[in-house]
Amino acid sequence: MKFALAGNPNSGKTTLFNALTGATAHVGNWPGVTVEKKEGTYKKLSEKVQIVDLPGIYSLSPYTPEEVVSRNFILDEKPDCIINIVDATNLERNLYLTTQILEIDVPVVIALNMMDLVKSSGREIRKEDLEKTFNVPVVEISALRNEGLKELMDVAYKEASNKRVGFTVLENCKFASLIESTKKEMETIGIESPLFHAVKLIENDSVEMEMHEEIAKGVEKLKTQIPQDEFEGDYEAAVADGRYRYISEHFAGTVKKDENEGELQVTKSDKIDKVLTHRIWGIPLFLIIMFVIFHFVFSSDILFLNRLFGLEINNEGWINFFIGMGAEFDEVTGELIALEGIPSLGVFLQSWMGWLTGSLIDLFASFMPEGTWYTGLVCDGILTGLDSIFSFLPQILLLFLCIAILEDSGYMARVAFIMDRAFRKFGLSGKAFIPLLMGFGCSVPAMVATKTLEDEKERDLTIALTPFFSCGAKAPIWAMLAFAIVGSLLGDIFVFSIYLLGIVVAIVAAILIKVFSKAHEVPPFIMELPAYHRPQFKNLMANLWEKLKHFIYKASTIITAAIILIWFLSNFSWAFWQGLVEIEDSMLVDIGNVLKYFFYPLGFSQGEHGWIYSVATVTGLIAKEDVVATIAQLLGTVAEDEETVGLALMGSLSNAQIYAFAAYNLFTFPCFAAIATMKAESSKKAFPKTLAFWFGGSYVISLVVYLVGLAFQAAIVLGIVVLHALIAAIVLCGYFVSKHRNKAKVA
Ligand code: GDP
Ligand code: MG
Repeated sequence: MKFALAGNPNSGKTTLFNALTGATAHVGNWPGVTVEKKEGTYKKLSEKVQIVDLPGIYSLSPYTPEEVVSRNFILDEKPDCIINIVDATNLERNLYLTTQILEIDVPVVIALNMMDLVKSSGREIRKEDLEKTFNVPVVEISALRNEGLKELMDVAYKEASNKRVGFTVLENCKFASLIESTKKEMETIGIESPLFHAVKLIENDSVEMEMHEEIAKGVEKLKTQIPQDEFEGDYEAAVADGRYRYISEHFAGTVKKDENEGELQVTKSDKIDKVLTHRIWGIPLFLIIMFVIFHFVFSSDILFLNRLFGLEINNEGWINFFIGMGAEFDEVTGELIALEGIPSLGVFLQSWMGWLTGSLIDLFASFMPEGTWYTGLVCDGILTGLDSIFSFLPQILLLFLCIAILEDSGYMARVAFIMDRAFRKFGLSGKAFIPLLMGFGCSVPAMVATKTLEDEKERDLTIALTPFFSCGAKAPIWAMLAFAIVGSLLGDIFVFSIYLLGIVVAIVAAILIKVFSKAHEVPPFIMELPAYHRPQFKNLMANLWEKLKHFIYKASTIITAAIILIWFLSNFSWAFWQGLVEIEDSMLVDIGNVLKYFFYPLGFSQGEHGWIYSVATVTGLIAKEDVVATIAQLLGTVAEDEETVGLALMGSLSNAQIYAFAAYNLFTFPCFAAIATMKAESSKKAFPKTLAFWFGGSYVISLVVYLVGLAFQAAIVLGIVVLHALIAAIVLCGYFVSKHRNKAKVA
């Protein structure tokens, strides 16, 4: 048994799908997330039912890939029942699709979703109206709150065993007889769902015209006999008009508003939007919200209590033990010293996790024979590498939780809206920001999501900029560097500035490219802002669980493989058959020593350990987490025994070098998976261009960062400020250039 979920974008299909199948597909607020088909199983009926989440569509015409996928699936794969999910807060618009689905000979159940919103706004929907008019069952649900789902499935299951014949709302329009006769013709040649095909053919649907050339000719002839109306033979418009007219005639009164309670509810969301999407304050507020998140996750001085008020926690063993194991060490003795300030939740969890995994490894190592090659491989290689990544896991998950809350509440959709408004002048549209914002999670699905952009150039550009929105795999790099940079700078500011740098560079690059190629007017971007709602605990947890699973899978496969490779290269010389050698004589040192000259101008490869950072940027190609694993593995071997990796890092890189290293890793080639996706999703000629862009761009930006950092070595914070001021200046330049060009065009 197979049911398909069909409905408009943002009607809640994915939410319903997840609730029914227990699958944990990502739920985002924007149209276009569900480009691919998702399948799952519903097990609570007497028979297992396969559920398919179709892409969101407004119509069954063959214009967009989503429409084609959905239409073909319904017609060819013949689901036993279609669950047409309808956003009840937008009833009339959603029913437009319903009227088309009803024309197909397939059992249909209408799921009125978002009933929680309808009810809380004091409205009511007379679902009997719908049932009577359309002659299909209607079930009120709230996918988000898991209400009415059992009933929906029971009804759909019952419905699936009945045969249903297509019904059209165009029965009473001028060309009803034409529909009737065309349908008959379709029947005689044995077409399934003749009504649907007949209406589409009359609409001049390109697919139908090709499929039924003969009948199409007849239809054209008949059309000339029908009296002209205001559409003057434009049957596509006439059919659309017929549908809308029917809907508004029959269902205008179906939504019952209850006094002014409804208005109140609406204004509440509007009121929030007045602040959050304010013309001037919108972007600063977004930045503040992001900063608060980074502060909460990466700060070792919560609320700046130490910086501002000199609060310190003295070395009373138990306090340090409780608040943060190893948050700071004495440089000489390696012992725990007084904590400067109270660590944020992220740092607190990170230090505990680091302590826990570190202790486990020590315990494990004590059972291993000393000095054998496999002890080296397991303890110094695999476990040390994995430990370095896993100790940042709590921070990364916390960061993702915060981003998921922003997404789930509906705020991220607003960010795209704000960005759209601010950057439209430069030829950037909010539609491109949606995949970019997804890049905070992972570049791969973000690049796939650029499918929603129609313009090929814009798609190529967006794909090229996606990695600049720092993905989850890069987060451990920032966390590690934040830990190293903490001596002179607060980690939260550092991580925040890296994310910001990525966004700003992406925007500036896009503007420059648009200004110097022929920038054209961007079509207005119409986007529905979903109503704000409280994020659901279950969704958030499902989201985190998905991330965790992915992380563990990655760690146990490609990351471990890379660690083993690095271990091999760092323990054998070119004459590897001669057995283990000291790291100084290994192949990896030679490789690193060659690489380091390439990176020399960027600073981070200059010191004694420079070859390590050079090698790490290359292993980052396999997976960005490998940057951390490689550094931990190699620094752990060469550094003094009592030193932690963080301390060794701090000792071997200056702040300017740390910044340059971060910038290089942010802007350079993403991992192989993302490179492959880029190749698949962008146009042919864009592939080499984008590779060159990443290669050259990262080098130049990193160089600028290093030079600016050098100039302000004494006051790195000032350096960051200046850097951002520079970038702001470029933005302004870009603005005036484009304005000037526009004027020139008018003149
Ligand atoms: P899709 O594009 O059709 O797959 O829609 P999604 O499942 O991604 O849902 C779009 C938005 O609507 C998400 O923010 C959901 O959390 C929200 N949503 C879905 N179902 C409900 C519901 O029953 N009530 C409320 N209040 N929100 C819902
Ligand atoms: Mg979806």
